[in-house]
Amino acid sequence: MKSHLPRIVTICAVIALFAVGNAYALQTPSARDFDAEIRAAVQSAKTAAGVEFLGTLTRLCLLPQSSAEDTTDNVPEFVRNPSGAPARETWYAEPARVFDNLYFVGGKVHSAWALTTSDGIILIDTIFPYNSEELIVGGMRKLGLDPKNIKYVLISHAHADHIGGAEMLQTRYGARVVMGAADWDAVAKYPNRYKTMAPKRDIVATDGMKLTLGETSVTIWATPGHTPGTLSYTFTVFDRGRPVNVAYSGGTAFNFPNRTPNPGIRNFQTYIDSQKHMAAQAAATGATVILSNHSEFDDAYNKNRMIAGRGNGPHPYELGTESVQRYFQVMENCARAAQIGLERDLTKAAQ
Ligand SMILES: [Zn+2]
Repeated sequence: MKSHLPRIVTICAVIALFAVGNAYALQTPSARDFDAEIRAAVQSAKTAAGVEFLGTLTRLCLLPQSSAEDTTDNVPEFVRNPSGAPARETWYAEPARVFDNLYFVGGKVHSAWALTTSDGIILIDTIFPYNSEELIVGGMRKLGLDPKNIKYVLISHAHADHIGGAEMLQTRYGARVVMGAADWDAVAKYPNRYKTMAPKRDIVATDGMKLTLGETSVTIWATPGHTPGTLSYTFTVFDRGRPVNVAYSGGTAFNFPNRTPNPGIRNFQTYIDSQKHMAAQAAATGATVILSNHSEFDDAYNKNRMIAGRGNGPHPYELGTESVQRYFQVMENCARAAQIGLERDLTKAAQ
């Protein structure tokens, strides 16, 4: 028996070496095929996009991203020189009653929504300073709503295309303004950037906060990523008396700092986690409608015109729970594809 020992030792050594070699191969970063992983993530996003979410897919997975941290504090050109603001025909859209208690008062590209309750109006997002007067105040009047009844203004995030009318609505109508803490901080930090758009610090939203007005509640979800304070919402609207659940996605594009692995990988993870969080809330509430604050994402501008021809057919905004889930999968997978690209950069830098 003794004579067999050296051979057994040799076999064991070979097996051990093989195992170590394999483990080494698995741990070697170059073993990852980053391009294949990116292609797979983009393909998952394309599959999830279906025919409904091509705008979101294009913006997040296909178009180049703006990605630098903006630390400048300049007065925007459209505030400094209002006559130089984009021409009306580029943004004007007719207001529309979309559900029994939800009205569109936005423009061609950016949306604002008035949710009516038994005790006043909750306004969601406020577009730009140069068009909030005509689209929101004028649009509400056109639809028979009195802007004086706006009790709450929810700002999904503090970018000029959504916070533009918040200061005016707070000052003129005494509306309470709700925003995420980090975005309130940004408004305070950059007085020039937010000139004419800076409501006085008011209600700081927290994850799961319920805002109730009359018989209507909006649940607020913290979905950091697009900005650190981005908020999303779930609420119920009515379609010819039938309750319909809505998921409102508050921030979409990847214009947070993401050019370099640090902090880009972490920032994409924050964004991805938020999409998972919001998808779970949409699932829990049975959301069949996805709304956004850009019409390229929820197709609001086109759908508002389709409502007129609906007859007794389904509501054009109501896509079903499965489609709403796919919306968040588009966001998540496009973010993952971009994150993998940064993981590749990190690996290359380490080699
Ligand atoms: Zn934004």
